[in-house]
Amino acid sequence: MPTRDRLAEITAGTHAIIDLDAYASNIQELRRRAGQGRQLMAIVKANAYGHGAVECGLTALQAGASSLGVARIDEALELRRAGLDGPILVIGPPNVAQVDLAIEHDIALTVATEDSYAAVVNATDRLGTRATVHLKVDTGLHRYGALPTLAIDLAQRLYDAPGVDFQGIYTHYSSADERDPEPTLEQIRVMRGVLDELKARSITPPFVHIANSAGILESHFPESNLVRAGIATYGLDPSDEVPVDDVFRQVLTLHSIVTRRFILEAGESVSYNRTYTAQQDEQVASAPIGYADGIERHLSNAGWFMVNGERCPIIGRVCMDQTVIKAPVELHEGDTVTVIGDGTDGAMTVADVGRLSQTNTYEPVVRIAARVPRIYVQNKKPVSWWVPILGERGAFEQ
Ligand SMILES: *Cc1c(COP(=O)(O)O)cnc(C)c1O
Repeated sequence: MPTRDRLAEITAGTHAIIDLDAYASNIQELRRRAGQGRQLMAIVKANAYGHGAVECGLTALQAGASSLGVARIDEALELRRAGLDGPILVIGPPNVAQVDLAIEHDIALTVATEDSYAAVVNATDRLGTRATVHLKVDTGLHRYGALPTLAIDLAQRLYDAPGVDFQGIYTHYSSADERDPEPTLEQIRVMRGVLDELKARSITPPFVHIANSAGILESHFPESNLVRAGIATYGLDPSDEVPVDDVFRQVLTLHSIVTRRFILEAGESVSYNRTYTAQQDEQVASAPIGYADGIERHLSNAGWFMVNGERCPIIGRVCMDQTVIKAPVELHEGDTVTVIGDGTDGAMTVADVGRLSQTNTYEPVVRIAARVPRIYVQNKKPVSWWVPILGERGAFEQ
């Protein structure tokens, strides 16, 4: 069988390009801003916000992150299976039926409820091994976390449990991405109360961590020696009120291809429900990318793609698998289409897509689907590829 040219295959269709140099540089910048004596946990949950958890996880550790954070035990297992042996913390509520599995793979877990405490301690008793645990305090987000009284009680029990390495205590901000610092300062006050009480009991786990990306950008990290960065590592704004500056580089771009070029005659309309009708004869083109790939249906008659340096408005409804654009430019079937650019090429950025879709910057990247192949670039050269839907990845020969 002839060897397949994966680069040619992947770039002939819809695909994402992930710039690992940009990702590494964003991580180094966040570490610098977190300051001396603070480690950085790179958050690679949800497939590294759509960028690919294995490739990003490896790159993050090489770039100076000291650990990785994921939301689910399965996500940590994916990293272990790929040979990643650095520290991993599950920052979400652990699936109590998978706690044994997590412990066997040296995955640190978060405890914040009686159930999660019991699951971890029972597992260490039963397996005769040790578990690494971080305690999450609810200081005002009111999602997962233990309220201060329970947190202090759980901290004492974790500290006393013979099978537990009580490695960290943390909380999570609700509003660090807003300009008003008051909710954040209030959460810091609550956290300080918990830490003071624990100090009085001589319970001082090695890590205290509080800040997410917005918290780092706004320098909200008192008392902590670790920060947890997600969105800014990908070069994306936590919000319009707390954006990243120009030092950060957007890591992901999304591309497709012109599959059909044709003339839409005056009076003819496009796509489901005919929401766009040509006023005069115009050249249009279709691309094999739709809302099942992760671009939002909200972009119908609102967003644009770039082809050959020209802005081509999306016309009609974005379909599940295809989108039609108006193409006031010389183009050919097979030409490359930039769907999401990095801000330098006139294409929609992730922030543009978020605004047009009435969502944040997180959703557009997280939604990029498993059927979209990823190409990883270093030194401007493709170094590896991943086709999530096939579970296949590999390196390009250099
Ligand atoms: C997702 C998450 C983060 C990362 O947040 P960003 O805003 O992406 O930096 C940090 N901590 C916890 C607990 C999270 O769930």
